[in-house]
Amino acid sequence: MTVHSPTYANAKMTLETEILALRRRLARAHRILTAGGIWPITKGHVSARIPGTDNVLILGHIHSEGRSLIDTDVDDIVTVDIDGNWLEGRIEPVDERFLHLEIMKARPDVTSVVHAHPTYATAFGIAGVNIIPVGNRGAIFAPQVPILEFDRQIDTPERGQMCRDAIGDSMALVLKNHGVAVCGDSIENATIATFALEETAQLQWIAAQVGQVQKISTGEVRSVLTGARKEEFYSHVWGHYARLDPWYGGPGDARSNPRPAVKPLPSQ
Ligand SMILES: [Zn+2]
Repeated sequence: MTVHSPTYANAKMTLETEILALRRRLARAHRILTAGGIWPITKGHVSARIPGTDNVLILGHIHSEGRSLIDTDVDDIVTVDIDGNWLEGRIEPVDERFLHLEIMKARPDVTSVVHAHPTYATAFGIAGVNIIPVGNRGAIFAPQVPILEFDRQIDTPERGQMCRDAIGDSMALVLKNHGVAVCGDSIENATIATFALEETAQLQWIAAQVGQVQKISTGEVRSVLTGARKEEFYSHVWGHYARLDPWYGGPGDARSNPRPAVKPLPSQ
């Protein structure tokens, strides 16, 4: 394992506090994606690289505890190495961690991966139809979202490598008859891209009921993916999704919020 020594802008910021902040952001992404309806019966998971290490934070297998991801907290997040070995955490990591890890191994630009089973995007995989950028929120998926022709759980390194090969340098992959994998360069951006994928699939589906589906122009794709518009693609919408978090504490905790304190009962 290679451990580099990152330089922290704030001297007080240690790797430990950075990991805690990452765990909070990761737990929150699970709550937001749940609240946003991205995973029916709340099955799915998000991962994040620990900067300067070869380790990754990922959801523990809390599904086996009968839990809903709407309550995901920091101690539900565990640490694995890049090969999937469980290093730390109270509960073993999710079986499908190899989907996240094999993509991260091949893609230094990817620091966070979402695996989910959103209804519309998954339906396109069932039908064998590629999702295309039908609106500007779909520009990051141009020219189209590849489909993995394999419908089993991604619970081995070999299956993870199939996902890696299928996604190539795309931002998202549809897993036939299963779900999706979506990449980001931060936890928040991977979360936003997951919503953008499902919104694009929904729009494409509706357009197909009305007439011939047309994608946005190459010029518009290029415009969305460069300069200020690229930054806006993510930063302008985060405030919207952050508010889906049932623990949302106001604009002050835009990036990482702990579980709100339980309000004391009014005294008699
Ligand atoms: Zn799955």
